[in-house]
Amino acid sequence: MRIAMFSTKSYDQEYFEKYSEIYNHSFSFFETALNKNTANLTLGFDAVCVFVNDKIDKDTIEIISKNGINLIAMRCAGYNNVDIKAAKSNNIKIVRVPAYSPEAVAEHSVALILTLNRKTHKAYNRVREGNFSLKNLIGFNLYKKTVGVIGVGQIGTAFCRILKGFGCRIIAFDISKSEELINLGVEYLPLNEVFKQSDILSLHCPLTPKTKHIVNRQSLSLMKKGVMIINTSRGGLINTADVITNLTNQKIGYLGIDVYEQEENLFFEDLSESIIQDDLILKLNSFPNVLITSHQAFFTKEAMDKITITTLENFNAFEKKQTLKNEVK
Ligand code: NAD
Repeated sequence: MRIAMFSTKSYDQEYFEKYSEIYNHSFSFFETALNKNTANLTLGFDAVCVFVNDKIDKDTIEIISKNGINLIAMRCAGYNNVDIKAAKSNNIKIVRVPAYSPEAVAEHSVALILTLNRKTHKAYNRVREGNFSLKNLIGFNLYKKTVGVIGVGQIGTAFCRILKGFGCRIIAFDISKSEELINLGVEYLPLNEVFKQSDILSLHCPLTPKTKHIVNRQSLSLMKKGVMIINTSRGGLINTADVITNLTNQKIGYLGIDVYEQEENLFFEDLSESIIQDDLILKLNSFPNVLITSHQAFFTKEAMDKITITTLENFNAFEKKQTLKNEVK
């Protein structure tokens, strides 16, 4: 198959080329994201391969459909950036990589917690400058703290397993319950109780109309003063303006995010020599208790291998007209 790869970086090319001898497809790597303005680049290809910030809305889908595309392969788990209805009505199938490494994302969430809490990022800079003072570096024990998890699917479950090892009490809200987690000692509680009781709140549910802005002014009003909020799922789960208000009035004690509502204009790019035109991220960056990473939670060698192989297998299954086990319906 001839595949147009969008939003690619050198590491995407490296991983797809690593497996190109085994899988017989041809790739063109575009750095640009797929959206209605770039959709015409798909002329002459059979399929597109996209990532988290490509905007595959109705307009984009109509253009790529006219160009003969009948498969959209997501190199990720989430698919909130695709208009599924429009794809269906244009006879375009969507496939994804449902579980490439839940541990990669769960471990990054824990990295955010530990860094924010024990301030190793600040200590590193201090010591390198010859400043060996401990002033303002005080943290807290994770042992016996209550960690609330919203959405305990594959990543949430991996996260719970790790936090159990720290001796935390884990409370969770999900629309379905898992026997494995109950056996692990996770307590399922109503959503408002999770907001009220958590010392640390970590979001691991998908972004859907129901979960959009699940952290907002109202849910923040229920939380403990000094709560730590971690989001490695999708930026739209958090109402950024409400979070900024609650950082300013010190209701939120710590914020660690790997995703951001308006990340498509910023993340994955080196903008260090640019004037950033996003007041909310500039404000977030001004708080000493906020840690932002640029959607890197997935980024481990193991996850990149799995993403690449699963995506290539999705292409093979489509080409051979086999059942698409990773189809988004
Ligand atoms: P999953 O489908 O295994 O788990 C999602 C869980 O959320 C399920 O248990 C589901 O029942 C639950 N859920 C759905 N709607 C809910 C609601 N309204 N309230 C509470 N729970 C709800 O998915 P996963 O593999 O664990 O991934 C979770 C999310 O993580 C993805 O949707 C994606 O947005 C994000 N993600 C981020 C990165 C990253 O690099 N930062 C990488 C991969 C995935």
